[in-house]
Amino acid sequence: MKSEFDLVIVGGGMVGASLVRALVGCGLSVALVEAWPLDSEVQPSYDDRAIALAQGTRVILESIGVWERLAGDAEPIRRIHVSDRGQFGFARLDCRDHDLEALGYVATGHALGQALLRGVGDLPGVTLLCPARLDSFELDDQAARLTLSLDEGERRISARLLVAADGARSMVRAALGIEAREWGYGQSAIISNLTSGAPAPGVAYERFTDAGPMAMLPLSGARYALVWTVADTEVEEVMALDEPQFLARVQERFGNRLGRFQRAGRRSSYPLKLLLAREQVRPRLALIGNAAHAVHPITGQGFNLGIRDVAVLAEVLGDARAAGADIGALETLRAYADWRQRDQQGVALMTDGLVRLFTNPLPPVRLARNLGLLALDLAPPLKQLLSRQFMGLNGRLPRLARGVGLE
Ligand SMILES: Cc1cc2nc3c(=O)[nH]c(=O)nc-3n(C[C@H](O)[C@H](O)[C@H](O)COP(=O)(O)OP(=O)(O)OC[C@H]3O[C@@H](n4cnc5c(N)ncnc54)[C@H](O)[C@@H]3O)c2cc1C
Repeated sequence: MKSEFDLVIVGGGMVGASLVRALVGCGLSVALVEAWPLDSEVQPSYDDRAIALAQGTRVILESIGVWERLAGDAEPIRRIHVSDRGQFGFARLDCRDHDLEALGYVATGHALGQALLRGVGDLPGVTLLCPARLDSFELDDQAARLTLSLDEGERRISARLLVAADGARSMVRAALGIEAREWGYGQSAIISNLTSGAPAPGVAYERFTDAGPMAMLPLSGARYALVWTVADTEVEEVMALDEPQFLARVQERFGNRLGRFQRAGRRSSYPLKLLLAREQVRPRLALIGNAAHAVHPITGQGFNLGIRDVAVLAEVLGDARAAGADIGALETLRAYADWRQRDQQGVALMTDGLVRLFTNPLPPVRLARNLGLLALDLAPPLKQLLSRQFMGLNGRLPRLARGVGLE
């Protein structure tokens, strides 16, 4: 049984699984450690939540061979309509302004999980350890040394680099005492898939209401994925509503743009917070995805940010390997952390700012944000910049985000 690897990824959620696929062909031996069985229907990383995939994410998924498996389950977003309930401001973003087929796509976490994980253990150079839980580890000059618990008992493995993709409550980050800037919003996201009476194919809506932002993302058929942010104090009450009461509440907040909502699927709620780890790398360690940063889903950026970590880390590690450098050396890993800093901080600040701006009930703030929305709608250069940010196409793009392979 192999016990030494070039790198070990802890966490086979969306981000860890994407990294495994991105590294295929780089000549590195990779172990993937995931606590949930791959075929589990209740794996929380791959639930019913709708994930808005930016155009830049589609390019990365194409480059790592995942898009062709997902495309049939991904609904295009061709236009985004942003408005403030009961106010005059609105803004529209349109893929035609960018000569693109879509601004982004929507897929469920479940469909994404299928596309990422099917056959992952058969990829060349990949050893899948699943279900397996990381119990403890240490980092020394030469290697990361891990103790795992599997159904058949304890197993020890080592690698030149440990990549922590173990989510927002990262055990690796906590065990190393890595601090994070972290605050809760006192809000939770309630999600449910709705059937609408008058669907608008290809149009996504972001509606700011006095009861919290509400996003409607187009799914196949006449269905929409609702992501509704509500105050923590109201979550219990909203989750307890029966289906007609819940639909009436959503209708009242969202309005009639999509006709009458007729059905609501299973509801889930997620407490929301912002988290940005103060250190992303140490010798023999890199944090990626939610282990490094978690953002409010107001603009659907979390996974999009995480997969950009993946594209950059894979490029840095592939280049280090080709140059005969140590993939776990701090110098190698700093190149990754420095490259990612601006994008991660920018998205964290932008989402945090939007949450504060659009949940502030003060009349002068409401007026200012509505004027801002109108200005945005009337100013093509500003709109272009914002659209490119949402599409994940701003800044220095790694090769996988430009559709260029790593080999
Ligand atoms: C309501 C909601 C809507 C969202 N909408 C969007 C959207 O539209 N667009 C977007 O881009 N993002 C969106 N996101 C964010 C997105 O879901 C996350 O960014 C993404 O799931 C993070 O993936 P991850 O792999 O980093 O972490 P996770 O999904 O948390 O995965 C971590 C993995 O590590 C495993 N693990 C943890 N500890 C151990 C251990 N000790 N040993 C072994 N395995 C371990 C877990 O089992 C899990 O599989 C949304 C989030 C929410 C809550």
